[in-house]
Amino acid sequence: MSRYWSSLVHRLTPYVPGEQPKLPHLVKLNTNENPYPPSPRVVAAIAEEMANGGQSLRLYPDPNAELLKEAIAARYSRFDISVEQVFVGNGSDEVLALVFMALLKHDLPILFPDITYSFYPVYCSLHDIAHVAVPLTEDFRIRVDDYATANGGIIFANPNAPTGCLLSLAEIDQLLVAQPASVVIVDEAYIDFGGESAITLVNRHPNLLVVHTLSKSRSLAGLRVGYAVGHRDLIEALERVKNSFNSYPLDRLAIAGAVAAMDDQDHFEQTRQAVMRSREALGSALLQLGFVVLPSAANFLFVSHPQSDAAQLAARLRQRGIIVRHFRQPRIDQHLRITIGSDEQCATLLQALREILPGE
Ligand SMILES: *Cc1c(COP(=O)(O)O)cnc(C)c1O
Repeated sequence: MSRYWSSLVHRLTPYVPGEQPKLPHLVKLNTNENPYPPSPRVVAAIAEEMANGGQSLRLYPDPNAELLKEAIAARYSRFDISVEQVFVGNGSDEVLALVFMALLKHDLPILFPDITYSFYPVYCSLHDIAHVAVPLTEDFRIRVDDYATANGGIIFANPNAPTGCLLSLAEIDQLLVAQPASVVIVDEAYIDFGGESAITLVNRHPNLLVVHTLSKSRSLAGLRVGYAVGHRDLIEALERVKNSFNSYPLDRLAIAGAVAAMDDQDHFEQTRQAVMRSREALGSALLQLGFVVLPSAANFLFVSHPQSDAAQLAARLRQRGIIVRHFRQPRIDQHLRITIGSDEQCATLLQALREILPGE
């Protein structure tokens, strides 16, 4: 505590990201990174941006990242998305931070599930926004009827994190129709691993904003690129806040790499299909080991074991060099979130669990 701190800083409880260990040989299944490398075209595009001794790095990047917005709009052209309907930022975490400032700060409290991405309450405390946590059902599902109260906006992850549960497009549509006065933010960080994007609904609902990231399904967590798609009025609100804060959130290398990633559909398809196949295989193997496995549409599984304490299990795995995510939080403190790794990593995990679990 310092007397030089602002009163805001005294009030903050920052987000705690999953561990990024310095040890090289760990089996890292704790932050939902992609086990496969990004498209080779990403590497080539970044190398090209650095050509001629890095000449171009002398110059500021395009503050509007127009090339990237075009690549994103082109990717969703079948839904009739124009460049003016796309916003880009330094990771979707930054996009979300701006969303809270630009679209979710109103007089009424905003609504989000009691179990969801734990950054949402952190943004609320940063921006001084009241919120109400709406409980998920017993089986960890979002029930849209539970959001039928006056509110300053609604945000949830779909598939939800850390549960992996998917809400159908029909239910999202129903929520949008029931709440025309509220902005509804759908954080689709994991949508490419098993869901259909609500971007299809954007042109029918001026109150819908869909947020994506290149960190998971495009294997680019280290490049820091995220984006949002919605009505141009919503995008303008984000641009106004962004241009009051940092005009150049995406650097030249990030823009070049992200454009290449959005353009390589083949690599994207192959890697996401591989992750989904591994998820089904790992899910069955964990069931056989006695785990309760929630159905997942994401690149992770949310599991519990009736005979084993989750925190202890996580600690024992860690002793064997395997890290998974455990949340010390009511309702889910007996669950573990396990990222889908490469097939070799999944095999290492299963072997370790066979050694650890009672009676195995
Ligand atoms: C990973 C994740 C993000 C953040 O993604 P970045 O683009 O890496 O900042 C946002 N929302 C959810 C639900 C996530 O799981």
